[in-house]
Amino acid sequence: MTIDNIKEEIFKADSIIILTHEMPDGDAIGSSLAMYNALKSLGKDVEIVMANNSDIFNFLPGASQIKSQGTKKIYDLAIALDCGDIKRLNGYTEYFQDANATIQIDHHEINTMFAEYNFVNPTAPACAQILITVLEELGIKITKEIGTCLLTGIITDTGGFKYQGVTAETFEFVAELLNIGVNVSNIYKRVLQVISRSKFELRKIAINRLEFYEDGKIAFTYTTREDEEKINASIDAHEGIVEIGRDIEGVEISVFLRENIERDGYKISLRSNDYVNVADICLMFNGGGHIRAAGGNIKLPLEEAKLRILDECRKYLK
Ligand code: 5GP
Ligand code: MN
Repeated sequence: MTIDNIKEEIFKADSIIILTHEMPDGDAIGSSLAMYNALKSLGKDVEIVMANNSDIFNFLPGASQIKSQGTKKIYDLAIALDCGDIKRLNGYTEYFQDANATIQIDHHEINTMFAEYNFVNPTAPACAQILITVLEELGIKITKEIGTCLLTGIITDTGGFKYQGVTAETFEFVAELLNIGVNVSNIYKRVLQVISRSKFELRKIAINRLEFYEDGKIAFTYTTREDEEKINASIDAHEGIVEIGRDIEGVEISVFLRENIERDGYKISLRSNDYVNVADICLMFNGGGHIRAAGGNIKLPLEEAKLRILDECRKYLK
């Protein structure tokens, strides 16, 4: 069984590097830090690297240990978390490829099974929820610190326990965390409720541009680099914009385009409500994700990109 191999590799390894997807969100960071704290408790020489992480997660235990580069070239073991495709380890793929052993733990619908040992469960609402099982298997006690990291992942990826995919296990776990003193309300507020001024300003811009297509079944909006410069946007300012369109009555697919740093195209974010598999749509755009939340990339000017994506989305509507 994969889990037995994972246990064996972790117990055997001394130096371990933890990696996650580019532009890491709360599940990516929460899962990585939960694993980091857990492996530390086993006495491992563990490192955690990522770039462009939003500072709203700085409160998480271990966050100050996150580095932008590893100290070694070759690790005994590399563990990728919350990442469906090796390309999304963007900038850190070499650590993964060069490691003596590789593991990935993930919950994406589209997963290219890029590790030696792939522990992938697309029905799990968050990578962090899969880690509960993995840590139990490793015999690691879920402390308040580890629990705080895992809960951050779960709260992020379930939109605060509201998406399909949330199970009785999710709530049982939260109940256990409350019992050990994890401040669920505080995490919820930090992760989902309070937004920075620049997030608010970018949302205002995106809302003003929001358009509807196909009798209101598609919502579309975008932001440019210029917008972000104008409001001095934080690294995560665009997050949550695509959900605004999704939550409007009658909308099945919400499309959000964010101009990329190179200014030669757009990062695509798609969300759906009831029946469209947006991960399938994103496969057409060099991406992937989950059934109701997915992303991709398109290198075209705005108008052309918009038309291409709307054309693709239309095919999936009833
Ligand atoms: P978001 O729209 O929040 O950036 O991403 C939604 C979901 O799709 C996330 O689970 C994210 O990991 C996944 N995703 C976003 N962009 C890409 C991409 O370019 N490739 C793949 N494989 N998945 C993506
Ligand atoms: Mn996730």
